[in-house]
Parts: sequence; structure tokens; C-alpha cells
Amino acid sequence: MSTPVLEIGKLNKTFLTSKGAVHALHQIDLTIKEGEFITVIGPSGCGKSTLLKIVAGLDNRFDGDVKLSGKQVTGPGIDKGFVFQEPRLFPWLTVEKNIAADLSLRNPQVRQKVDELIELVRLTGFEKSYPRELSGGMAQRVAIARALLRNPKVLLLDEPFGALDAFTRAHMQEVLLDIWQKNRTTMIFVTHDIDEAVFLANRIVILKPRPGAIRAVVPVDLPFPRKKASTSFQQLRYTVLNEFEKIEELELIDSSGI
Ligand code: ADP
Ligand code: MG
Repeated sequence: MSTPVLEIGKLNKTFLTSKGAVHALHQIDLTIKEGEFITVIGPSGCGKSTLLKIVAGLDNRFDGDVKLSGKQVTGPGIDKGFVFQEPRLFPWLTVEKNIAADLSLRNPQVRQKVDELIELVRLTGFEKSYPRELSGGMAQRVAIARALLRNPKVLLLDEPFGALDAFTRAHMQEVLLDIWQKNRTTMIFVTHDIDEAVFLANRIVILKPRPGAIRAVVPVDLPFPRKKASTSFQQLRYTVLNEFEKIEELELIDSSGI
């Protein structure tokens, strides 16, 4: 957990729109260590998705440094896995073919890796099922397995459990932590759910909007498995909530013109 895998320095992003410039990210500095689980939380529009897309190489029009294993990110690649809010599976392909994507299951190495991933995301027995036969949580587990196929250096997840009901969501959080503990893949997980952010993270990055900037970085030193009802968990929750209230106060001051 000591080597930096991702180094973001003085990152700025402005969207030019017909209505003018939108300063989406302002002076983001963040270094993430190998194997770390980072959650990014903040109100809607504070730049969470923009930040993730830039790290993924899906948007290369920005100012500043974004280095993965010391190399500037210039485009998408197999060293970065991405999971969106919706699973985005191919409806005409089975679970195993969705995971293998463009690789052939006839290749023994691919076959072995896909089988390992199916076991890891707890979909044994569903290899030959089609996406329409899966629940939302199962489909999202396929999406996670697909993103892990090429052992990415970092897995980027943009509100991946946002469309799931509370029980499925809690189960998915357990599954993801299990995957992380077995694989030690570096994770950057965007959410707007405080419980989720505290439950999963080694560090929580709190963003504030207009322009999107880092408001605070909160380390979470609670041991795993975490209990959401424990006092220490609730204390951390309050710490994060407190930062949000400060953001709201700043917004009120802004809008009142003080
Ligand atoms: P979040 O994911 O935190 O809700 P986003 O990263 O989607 O926020 O958006 C951050 C800001 O950038 C918002 O003000 C949004 O309107 C703006 N934005 C995002 N994408 C674009 C785009 N393609 N063109 C113009 N503005 C955009
Ligand atoms: Mg978003």
C-alpha cells in the first residue's frame, strides 16, 4: 500500500458550452496508493463523473497531470476498468461471453480467467444465462467481472449501485469488498451515499461544487468487516455529514452575495 498508482496534480477541467464556460474541476490534487479503496462523494454536479472519465482516459481535454503508474493518461486502455451506473451488457450474449467481451473463450487462458471471475462475483451456475434473465445486482456483477478481465491497475466505478434497492445494494457492497480483499485492485468508487462511502473506503474524498474541488479527504481507519450501526461508524458518518454542512453554509453565503 505504499507505491502511488495514480497521481493527479493541479487538474483543471472546463467545459465550453453554448451558454459559456463551466469550470467543472478546480485544482484537484490527489495521490492514490496501490491497493487503496477510495470513495468520492459530493452533491450532484460537483464533477465526480468528470473526474472519473478523465482518469479513465475517456476525456483527455484537461489541464494538469493525471499519471497512472508514472505515465500520463492520454486515452482509454486495458490498465483502467470502468463500471457505470447501468451494467451496459450486450443483451444477445451470455454472461460468460459478456465477461470475455472481445476475447475468445476457446483460448484456455481466457476460459480460466472468466471462470475465476464468475466465481469471484458469485455467478456460478449462470455462465450461460442472458442479461434479461438476471436481476439488477447480478447484471452489475457481470459488469464488474468484465471490467476486471484484464487485471486493470485501477477499477473506476461511477455510482455502480445507485439504481439498486437498499438490500441488493448492501449485498453488492459486501461482494465488492470481498473482490477487493482477494484481488487488491485499486478502487475509485463514486457515490452520493454517505453510508456506502464510509463502509467501503480507506479514504473518502469529499468534493464541493461550482467549481468541483476537494473539500476534504477523510481517512477511514475502521477494521473490516464494518458494522454500520457501530458507534465508530456513526462517528465517521457525522464527520462526513459535517463537511457537507460546511459546503451548504458556503453555498448560502455565495448565494446571498456576502
Ligand atoms: P457529478 O457526476 O458530480 O454529478 P459531473 O461530472 O457530471 O458531476 O458534472 C460536473 C459539471 O460539469 C456540471 O456542472 C455539469 O453540468 C458539467 N458537465 C458535465 N459534462 C458536461 C459536458 N459534456 N458538457 C458541458 N458541461 C458538462
Ligand atoms: Mg455523475
